[in-house]
Amino acid sequence: MQQIINDVEIRGAYKKFGSNVVLGGVDLDVKQGELLTLLGPSGCGKTTTLNLIAGFIDADQGELFIKGKRMNGVPPYKRDLGMVFQTYSLFPHMTVYENLEFGLKLHKVSKADCARRIKNALETVKMTGLEERYPREMSGGQRQRVAIARALVVQPKLLLLDEPLSNLDAKLRQELRVEIKRLQKEVGVTTIFVTHDQEEALSMSDRIIVMDKGKVEQAGTPTEIYANPRSEFVFNFIGKSNCLHGSIASIDTGMITVQLENGEKLLVEAGNVMGEDRSCSIGDSVKLYIRPEKVAIGSIFDPEYDPHTVHISQMNYLGSAWEILASFQGSVLQVQCPDIEPSWMIGSEVKVGWKPSDVMLIKR
Ligand code: ATP
Repeated sequence: MQQIINDVEIRGAYKKFGSNVVLGGVDLDVKQGELLTLLGPSGCGKTTTLNLIAGFIDADQGELFIKGKRMNGVPPYKRDLGMVFQTYSLFPHMTVYENLEFGLKLHKVSKADCARRIKNALETVKMTGLEERYPREMSGGQRQRVAIARALVVQPKLLLLDEPLSNLDAKLRQELRVEIKRLQKEVGVTTIFVTHDQEEALSMSDRIIVMDKGKVEQAGTPTEIYANPRSEFVFNFIGKSNCLHGSIASIDTGMITVQLENGEKLLVEAGNVMGEDRSCSIGDSVKLYIRPEKVAIGSIFDPEYDPHTVHISQMNYLGSAWEILASFQGSVLQVQCPDIEPSWMIGSEVKVGWKPSDVMLIKR
């Protein structure tokens, strides 16, 4: 069996700022060559975790290993890391070439090697020809490309990216997501990427670590995190959701029936219980979650679907899809559908349905 090598291991990291516990026992592994994203809401401890790896702060408790070596107390400049921050961290008085050369000179790289490595790094980020430009003469996207090239040119052990796309407009962000993912695979450098943007995390990462309140909530591939969230927090943080309240009416092999507060019954696959306590009994108060894109609407759907009736309350055009808001048993149900039946009007009675395997249940 092939051995999985971890380039970074954090064990039991605990960090307090004053009385504020910012990391409450973080354990994480970053595998060799992967792009791992730390994802979570503002203040959950993502940057603190990255700063711990970079050596800008020390943990109060816990251990950090990089490439198998214990790094507690090792200063940042001895960690051999490349970093890119949210704000452009280029030296403003230096050209692109000089910005890239700076780190190489510190590493005492010969002039000829410097020239070769700078050429390669600029090619990788598609910035060849801009060597003589100053940061003020470039767009935000170009500056971030140069910042990435500057981090890569020293051939770091790890590349750490702290929200590098958050100051860019939507189109540029999209372009740079693709670029970063491509060049990370091309160069093969183990990368840790921090973001609070779930779409960015889902589209770029090999694995995601979802954090909340200084703790790791879940680690997994983007599909695992999206399709099999282990907690209510992860389900709600990643993607949109519909939430319905009810209580368990019956439990059969493989299927749970939940009665909503006003009588309607919904089926849930028994394996779809989230949360720490996954035991279920008849009468338990529960919440059900369904993703808007898992709701089929209109006349035709699969016999496996659990069918219900709703009334259209709003139709919002989103460009690539329609968002339908429908009233369902006293709640608003969001439905995301690429096509829409033109005959629907506000108030129309319409059939909806979903697979019991797409409904998640958590006890209240
Ligand atoms: P954001 O997405 O907003 O950058 P984050 O998840 O990266 O958030 P951190 O920057 O790690 O969060 O901060 C976590 C908590 O620690 C916050 O409450 C923050 O105010 C606090 N914190 C971070 N650095 C310090 C510091 N040097 N001194 C005191 N408190 C700090």
